[in-house]
Amino acid sequence: MSQIPVEPEFQQAYDEVLLSFKDTLLFEKRPNLERLMEVLAIPERVIQFRVTWEDDNGHIQVNRGYRVQFNSALGPYKGGLRFHPTVNLSILKFLGYEQVFKNALTGLNMGGGKGGSDFDPKGKSDSEIRRFCQAFMTELSRHIGADTDVPAGDINVGGREIGYLFGQYKHLKNVFEGVLTGKGLAWGGSLIRPEATGFGLVYYVEKMIDYATDGKENFTGKKVLVSGSGNVAQYAALKVIQLGGSVLSLSDSKGSFISKNGKSFTAEDINKVAEVKLARKELKVLASEFPDFEYHEGKRPWTLVKQVDVALPCATQNEVSGEEAEYLVKAGCKYVAEGSNMGSTLEAVKIFEAARREHATIWYGPGKAANCGGVAVSGLEMAQNSQRVTWTQAKVDEKLKEIMTNCFYLCLDTAKDYGKVPRKLPSLVAGANIAGFIKVADAMID
Ligand code: GLU
Repeated sequence: MSQIPVEPEFQQAYDEVLLSFKDTLLFEKRPNLERLMEVLAIPERVIQFRVTWEDDNGHIQVNRGYRVQFNSALGPYKGGLRFHPTVNLSILKFLGYEQVFKNALTGLNMGGGKGGSDFDPKGKSDSEIRRFCQAFMTELSRHIGADTDVPAGDINVGGREIGYLFGQYKHLKNVFEGVLTGKGLAWGGSLIRPEATGFGLVYYVEKMIDYATDGKENFTGKKVLVSGSGNVAQYAALKVIQLGGSVLSLSDSKGSFISKNGKSFTAEDINKVAEVKLARKELKVLASEFPDFEYHEGKRPWTLVKQVDVALPCATQNEVSGEEAEYLVKAGCKYVAEGSNMGSTLEAVKIFEAARREHATIWYGPGKAANCGGVAVSGLEMAQNSQRVTWTQAKVDEKLKEIMTNCFYLCLDTAKDYGKVPRKLPSLVAGANIAGFIKVADAMID
């Protein structure tokens, strides 16, 4: 679908959707939607701009900035900003495309978009990050607004960066509006927004476990592998611990901590991880703090334990390969759900799906469904901003649970409705893609 010669990530995201439609009744039941697959694959608008900023030595620095306004059929464009040296148009188009489906699955009225920059915050001072954010927003501010396009955070864009970006928007536009989500609590943020993606992921998996075991099992006693150590991984781990599961791993791009004796990370450990991440340090500086864990340099967690029940990829795209997926199936993993966007390669998805179809041994929840809790609470933040009210923690958490439950049953019921063969574990990938696609495509036709 791309006109640029190589857009591998975007092509992968598109192929994954197309593959999941194969062997379903989608276009038999809804022939009028077939053409929409091609229409939906082209972003409504792509904005690319230059970001120049001054480093601490007074030197000029330059980066590329982007905003992909993918689809506004359901509401204002909505989706995060990612600052990472790997950011390019292929990555942002894949993320924007996924976001369109994901936002539809929340049941809220949000279109899909994504943006960011190839800026690398590693090794930068706080002032440099602030100056970069201000320069980035100077250009981005022309293209966004509370009812037009509402960015939020993603990798390397957290509360601090949202603060710098919001401050600059306010200076330039002289309006105080909900133009960004993930804001600080004192100035329009929502309770539970920082926790939402990780908590929501675990709520989704709770439903998977409950359904697959006819209500007999839950997280209690489950051995859980978590990758990543950022916002999503931290809150997913905390929720698993709270629900009685054991978190046996955490990782960053340099390596993984793996439990030596089956002992879980504790909530206190996760707080230490949060401090290290905020200081932009590597996870391995914590080696002496975690005597029950071994640090594996340069390794991802998936193949480092003999037996596992749940795998939660929470780092970045394509972080589970085909071989790692095979290992997870053999290690008895029964549930995989992505906190990251497109966490599994296409090969890995095929392996998980084949094991589910043929033996019902593993159940795979794709990121666009399993991690929609983050953007869902962003939607709730927008609702609170419009009403100029702040909801309680309990109210937001309850709504998040409700959204994740609805999302799970929407994926499940859609998979049952459109599957050609009834199965014990219907495909949540097909269910998520078909449900998201139909909602957006119907709105586009309307
Ligand atoms: N970056 C998050 C995601 O991938 C959140 C987006 C948002 O809150 O707008 O869904």
